[in-house]
Amino acid sequence: MIFEEAYSYDDVLLLPGYSEVLPRDCDVGTILCADVTLNTPVISAAMDTVTEEKLAIAIALEGGAGVIHRNLSPGEQARQVAAVKRYLNWVIESPVTVEEDSPIRDIKLLMAKFDVSGAPVLDRTGRLVGIITGRDLRFCRDDTLKVADVMTRDVVVEKGTPSVESAREKFDKFRIEKLPVVDAEGKLTGLVTVKDMEKHAKFPSAATDRQGRLIVGAAVSPQDFDTRLPLLRAARVDFVVLDTAHGDSKNVMDAVGNIKKKYGIPVIGGNVAARDGARRLIEAGVDAVKVGVGPGSICTTRVVAGIGVPQFTAVWECAEEAARTGIPVIADGGIKFSGDITKAIGAGANVVMIGNLFAGLREAPGHEIIFDGRIYKEYRGMGSMGAIAGGSGDRYQIAKDESPVPEGIEGRVPYKGEMRAFIHQLVAGLKKGMGYCGCRDIEELKRYRKFVKITAAGLRESHAHDVTITEEAPNYSPA
Ligand code: IMP
Repeated sequence: MIFEEAYSYDDVLLLPGYSEVLPRDCDVGTILCADVTLNTPVISAAMDTVTEEKLAIAIALEGGAGVIHRNLSPGEQARQVAAVKRYLNWVIESPVTVEEDSPIRDIKLLMAKFDVSGAPVLDRTGRLVGIITGRDLRFCRDDTLKVADVMTRDVVVEKGTPSVESAREKFDKFRIEKLPVVDAEGKLTGLVTVKDMEKHAKFPSAATDRQGRLIVGAAVSPQDFDTRLPLLRAARVDFVVLDTAHGDSKNVMDAVGNIKKKYGIPVIGGNVAARDGARRLIEAGVDAVKVGVGPGSICTTRVVAGIGVPQFTAVWECAEEAARTGIPVIADGGIKFSGDITKAIGAGANVVMIGNLFAGLREAPGHEIIFDGRIYKEYRGMGSMGAIAGGSGDRYQIAKDESPVPEGIEGRVPYKGEMRAFIHQLVAGLKKGMGYCGCRDIEELKRYRKFVKITAAGLRESHAHDVTITEEAPNYSPA
């Protein structure tokens, strides 16, 4: 018999301690799974009112990552992943190119089709011989001329592997817009554009892969991974999430092994809420364990099925287990304020997964609703009646021909503006907590492990109390 007390985020507070650390100096970079690292320890939930391509781009630009949900056809899910990967190029590996003897007419059509403003010109052996840009074409009235007649021959190039610094120097010095990359024989190996350089400069904390592309993940299930993964891999997905309500199950363990063996893509497994479940997932080979059974704001699993573990304890226990092997833990669900992120990492998580707080953002896919003169956005559980009708029933072991018994609800959350300003508040709150505890980085906060348990009176005291709030704060609304 197990009758231990278990705690949720509201039951505890981190104990402040001696500090020489200023919040602005804290490093919130973290490992998500395998070799995937983030600059912000936050990922967005694989839900159809939270993460599609727009939100996935917005969160990755701020250093986190999105997990594209799977109430989408495999083709559409992979298309969205590819769109995220394309958004921020550092070196475009396969740019649109043209041949020197092609007629200008064809080139104009090609550039319009691919929406590019210029293209490297190659000879028949693939060697770079020039570049053709909008500037070259603007004054060319005769469409029967050949590319070689109007192209710029004296091309500024990068040789070998370009560095951001040397590319920036060339853009500034030569006032060019495109910088082809060539190998020792002069063959084109890539292209850097000024537009992409500007995007990189504007989003210095963006979470990127080795080629400078945004990090993105996608949800799969034990039933559909063989259909989705070939497409997701071709779209260059960085990691997949085995998206199930009960990760401590044989079919999930089997799927982990199969995905690793067949596709070699990092796999996050879950969800679990107890030490043993975390251990079994790790033994099955997951690259990160996702923790959370029932903490989600739209979740009714605990009252419908009578199971679950309050989230702070679940994360604490699973993280203790995962720490033996160094496998990261993701705390999924139940984040209401930035302070809950500090608590989740303090309990041992590397990263938190958020649904509710992101569903109200402009970039989230849910519809906007006007109610009582205020704007809201729709937010629903993937186990709600509406989402099950959209195809997510297998997350809750509901067969297609079965009468659904939901484990989630459908609702609305206040509109919250844009990701950039909102996530700044979350990360700044986390850094404040790190400053109060004297923790310079995520690993130090994970090791800190000093909490006090509070009472209902303590929780009441923690929130604004005995006052009527007259101005909205960007990081607080009453519980
Ligand atoms: P939130 O940030 O507290 O809203 O929690 C989001 C998390 O709730 C997701 O990442 C899922 O793990 C979980 N979740 C999503 N839909 C459902 C549901 O219908 N029932 C139970 N849990 C859900």
